[in-house]
Amino acid sequence: MSDYDFDLFVIGAGSGGVRASRMAASFGARVAVAEDLYLGGTCVNVGCVPKKLFAYAAHFAEDFGDAQGYGWDLSKARFDWQRLVENKNTEITRLNGIYHNLLTAAGVTLVHGRARLIDSHTVAVGDASYTAERILIATGGWPFIPEFPGHEHVISSNEVFYLEQLPKRAMVVGGGYIAIEFASIFHGLGCETSLLYRGAQFLRGFDQGLRDHMVVTMQNKGVDLQFDADVAHIEKQADGSLLVSLKNGETLETDLVLYATGRRPKLDGLGLENTKVTLDDKGFVAVDKLYQTTDPAIFAIGDVTATIQLTPVALAEGMALARRLYCPDEYRPVDYKDIATAVFCIPNIATLGLTEEQARACGHKLDIYESRFRPLRNTLAGNDEQSFMKMLVDQQTDQVLGIHMVGPDAGELIQGLAVAIKAGATKAVFDATLGIHPTAAEEFVTMR
Ligand code: FAD
Ligand code: NDP
Repeated sequence: MSDYDFDLFVIGAGSGGVRASRMAASFGARVAVAEDLYLGGTCVNVGCVPKKLFAYAAHFAEDFGDAQGYGWDLSKARFDWQRLVENKNTEITRLNGIYHNLLTAAGVTLVHGRARLIDSHTVAVGDASYTAERILIATGGWPFIPEFPGHEHVISSNEVFYLEQLPKRAMVVGGGYIAIEFASIFHGLGCETSLLYRGAQFLRGFDQGLRDHMVVTMQNKGVDLQFDADVAHIEKQADGSLLVSLKNGETLETDLVLYATGRRPKLDGLGLENTKVTLDDKGFVAVDKLYQTTDPAIFAIGDVTATIQLTPVALAEGMALARRLYCPDEYRPVDYKDIATAVFCIPNIATLGLTEEQARACGHKLDIYESRFRPLRNTLAGNDEQSFMKMLVDQQTDQVLGIHMVGPDAGELIQGLAVAIKAGATKAVFDATLGIHPTAAEEFVTMR
């Protein structure tokens, strides 16, 4: 028995912190976790879960339109934003309760409040202080909004989930996951929606073919896409609307501006200066491959480090760390290769492995299979929207290097393909697999 109050003190009960706490406790460690805002962290409260619920809500508008071609006559649909937000809040409260029960059932001590490091083995929360043999920083990230005149008039993804009213006109600034998802959500819920991105084309880092397809898809839906658009300043007008001035001299009017310009590690007031923990050149907590910081007693996982900012990654890191420290026989390092992700816009984007540009830069000679088609469901609906599928295959080894898709439920579809790629599937294996007819997914095994 050590002289410390706990074997492990975790700061932050988000995706990574909860998983590490529960696993470590299940291996017999004495664990405490401090949380100052909400159990379950970003993902459960202001991230993946409420975002996906909003995306479902937005999808109905299109479904109602499509239904007519299938013989349905719907009287004019009416949308109630307050009901959506209330129901979403009820669901999140339910999930918070589940997280509470999971932690307490695992024997983890829950400490409510903001944690501050006093030294390498001591954490203060309010008036209390706790000692631990090891400390885990799992404090996640926080939206970043650049400084410019009028920035106080914009909101971030933290606030968007609690808006009292749905604006008539909405503007989203950014060109990554959150921007694309919320442009889709606002548009689907009936807002006049613009998306402003500072560069020539959004979704930097995604496959070029997929990006091109997504531009056309969003434009055809009626989202106003503005590229090379940099905000200079924003003024609030007498009627409450916002006047957005761009650096090129143009002005645009809207009712709400959502900034989705990335996230920064949440480190304010954490007391890192009282420890030997250092940051990397981008301001993330510096860790080695075993999540060890530059302080021997302190570890860090998830979005507070320079990892891939996804819940399954934080979960896997929490699991790997707990195993390594408290059940080393079961330790397996996290495999960061070929992590599938989806952008839950309408329709979904899903992507796995290398983009064409990355594969070429790595020197691969490629066979490229591409398909654009109108999904069967869209035919009677009179909907011209096309799906996009792309597969990259190494000419020499026949290995499938990358899969990219824009289309309904692409996020669901790509998970199974991720297993195939992890298992080393070659194109020949895809070719030998019989399709499920009629589906969009069968296209991936019939590409020639
Ligand atoms: P977090 O989940 O952020 O948890 C950190 C916790 O630490 C928070 O609860 C915070 O309150 C607490 N904390 C911070 N400082 C202190 C302190 N000093 N004392 C006590 N507590 C503290 N990922 C996906 O995989 N799929 C998605 O669809 C998806 N959608 C997203 C949508 C949005 C709008 C956003 C913002 C993110 C989304 N993500 C998604 C990313 C995902 O939410 C994060 O990658 C994930 O939550 C990171 O987990 P984490 O444990 O590192 O941090
Ligand atoms: P991203 O990093 O994905 O995108 C940030 C965007 O903001 C980029 O287009 C970037 O442009 C732009 N940007 C950055 N700084 C500025 C600036 N000063 N002025 C104007 N534009 C700027 O961040 P998000 O905020 O969208 O999301 C954070 C992370 O959360 C994601 O990277 C993802 O890992 C995770 N997430 C995952 C989701 C999912 O799995 N479905 C959903 C939502 C979030 P540029 O490209 O030019 O740098």
